[in-house]
Amino acid sequence: ILWNFRCAEAAFAGCGLWNGREMAIELKKLTKRFGTLTAVDSVDLTVGDGEVLCLLGPSGCGKTTTLRMVAGLELASEGEVYLGGKNVSDQTARDRNVAMSFQFYALYPSLTVAENLAFPLYGEGLSKTEVDARVARISNTLQLSGILNRKPGQLAEGEKQRVAVGRSIIRDPTCFLFDEPLSRLDVQLREEMRGEIKLVLQDLSRPTVIVTHDQLEALTMADRIAVMRDGKIEQVDTPHNVFQRPKNLFVAGFIGTPQMNLLPATLTASNGASAEFAITGGQTIKIEVDPRISELSPGTKVTLGVRPRNLEISNEPTPDGISSTIDIVEPMGAETLAHLSDGQHDLRLVTDWRVPLNEGDKVHTRFLPGTTHIFTADEQVMRTP
Ligand code: ATP
Repeated sequence: ILWNFRCAEAAFAGCGLWNGREMAIELKKLTKRFGTLTAVDSVDLTVGDGEVLCLLGPSGCGKTTTLRMVAGLELASEGEVYLGGKNVSDQTARDRNVAMSFQFYALYPSLTVAENLAFPLYGEGLSKTEVDARVARISNTLQLSGILNRKPGQLAEGEKQRVAVGRSIIRDPTCFLFDEPLSRLDVQLREEMRGEIKLVLQDLSRPTVIVTHDQLEALTMADRIAVMRDGKIEQVDTPHNVFQRPKNLFVAGFIGTPQMNLLPATLTASNGASAEFAITGGQTIKIEVDPRISELSPGTKVTLGVRPRNLEISNEPTPDGISSTIDIVEPMGAETLAHLSDGQHDLRLVTDWRVPLNEGDKVHTRFLPGTTHIFTADEQVMRTP
């Protein structure tokens, strides 16, 4: 599969279909209403040439509708879509010349490999000679020349993938739009493909938007991730930043597996370098904080966020930790996931598999220095490490 994508890359670098136009996608206050439902709510977003942006969010948050508006398959209720600096909001899907694929896998079963490859070119007004030439060029480089007359049912999995990739890139579109492209693949194939897709798409030097609800897919493939909730974009940032510096409670809880621990607490004291919090349920914890914690006055309600891998088991209770009981132990191979309870909250802890953990035991867990996110009541992050 890795080889497939390298070939696709080479195919495109060599086939001279691009003409060097700048083709950024720009969405301005893009809104879509279905009756009383606002599916996409005033989205502003720019995707640069060669950039891969993943739209990530829970089911129903408006990812596909946003993509369909870029493609021209859905008209916006308000706002504009720009492609290459040109307002295309009133243009039809055909005039926008985008390449939208639903799955790399979806080949037409009744068509041959050659016909599948040529399919996106039908209706482009190209001569048969030009279509044949493009199919020949792509199939040569993707090593499909020997199987051009076969139908998908007669192909091995890897061959199907190569055809699907070839079909996705045979045109010269303004941008690439993919809706859950890997969702039908088995786990192993998906794992192999997602890292490579990014490389290929970047080299096609067109803006690319990938819709996915799979955060691992987004974290691996994207240059930037736009996290959506209820039609709005909550954060647009690099994969590193959405994980390490979530902008609000929603992003913090949505990105990361197992989920970040989120504990309601009250700030009781701070001295600029450290602060003490009373966690709902009675325990207190003293942790290092950013000096700007002084912007919050004692008594402020906050949520403390700490990732499961940033909790560390200690033998004794410590000021920077809390005590809880182990409810469930889940071995995950190299690591173990433990579900803990302090009587009020469920906490997730991930630790090395060698650390002995027994259900029912009492444990003390430290919050590792510099790893606690503090969210204020309006869900915005106060301080990240
Ligand atoms: P999923 O990951 O499940 O595909 P999504 O984030 O892509 O979800 P959309 O498909 O964009 O979400 O849908 C956003 C909201 O708009 C949903 O509540 C959906 O039910 C609604 N919706 C989408 N298309 C239509 C339509 N044609 N008519 C009415 N409501 C629609």
